Amino acid sequence: LFLTMEGPDGGGKSTQIRLLAARLGECGIRYCTTREPGGTPISDKIRAVLLDPSHGEMAPKTEALLYAASRAQHVAEVIRPALARDEIVLCDRYIDASLAYQATGLDLSYEYVRRLSEDATDGLWPTRTYLIDVPVEIGIERVCKSRGLGLDRIEQRDLTYHQRVREQFLEIAASQPDRVLVLDGTKSTAEVAEEIWQDVRRFL
Ligand code: C5P
Repeated sequence: LFLTMEGPDGGGKSTQIRLLAARLGECGIRYCTTREPGGTPISDKIRAVLLDPSHGEMAPKTEALLYAASRAQHVAEVIRPALARDEIVLCDRYIDASLAYQATGLDLSYEYVRRLSEDATDGLWPTRTYLIDVPVEIGIERVCKSRGLGLDRIEQRDLTYHQRVREQFLEIAASQPDRVLVLDGTKSTAEVAEEIWQDVRRFL
């Protein structure tokens, strides 16, 4: 079972993955948690290049290709082997993030990024995606509070960029309701965790 967590920055994805992992652990279910960009030594190096605010402007295609490269390694080294061991894979961001942040956010064509992502993953899509939706102002404020002023290169982009990203996430969810479940990220952490858990249980 392959599950992904998506949504605008500051929605609480990482916390929800931790809580879900803890529940699975309590039930004695084997799982693997991982995240993008990153998740392997090679992908973590690519992540550092992607998020470093100190170098100059990165061309949109460079950004999309680096995400695809990072994802190809991640799928080959972590996700497919974990699925083959019959573990539940909980991944913090995946292809939907590229469709939102790189395609819509950077004005690359949706088709281009989708093809690139499918090529990088040999068409591996998650069974279920939890989209934790949060208005961009609230999300970015949460990120600032939790991390001081240290925003990464992408978080530093303006609110219009983040607004487009959020809208794209919601569009993906509306067009694929069987795969994507939208959760209200302004609710309490415990409430969101409970909604996710009730949904995950259907697959166990
Ligand atoms: O999810 P996390 O906060 O770890 O993501 C790190 C950064 O990478 C965030 O600023 C996120 O917006 C960005 N990102 C992106 N495109 C992706 C995945 C993540 O711009 N495909």
